[in-house]
Amino acid sequence: MDKIIKKCKVCPIGCELVITEDKSNPSGYTVEGNSCNRGRDFGIQEITEPSRVLTGRVLLKNGAMSRLPVKTTGVIPKDKVDECMKILNSTEAVAPIKRGELIIENILGLGVDVIAARKAK
Ligand code: SF4
Repeated sequence: MDKIIKKCKVCPIGCELVITEDKSNPSGYTVEGNSCNRGRDFGIQEITEPSRVLTGRVLLKNGAMSRLPVKTTGVIPKDKVDECMKILNSTEAVAPIKRGELIIENILGLGVDVIAARKAK
């Protein structure tokens, strides 16, 4: 039976997950190597419906730095990541900006916002 190895990205520990197809399991998969249930859920989702919380940078005007780190408030399907990155790369924010401030509302109509990951003066 094929084993798929993925690094869990839910928290900074980064457990190495070994995901195996398992028809006897209600989810259809067995996950090993996870230290908690969030890792099991992440591993199964990576196989069945891959998605990501997206992080990136947008241009920052009027600030001490030229780019502002941003992140999405939820997961983005993997097949939409490139399109979202293009939008981030062509977005400009103007300082000052508070951490968590809305930068892009409902990106690509996915029901997920892009917010500032840090404050910028
Ligand atoms: S399995 Fe749990 S402890 Fe391990 S990286 Fe994922 S969330 Fe963190």
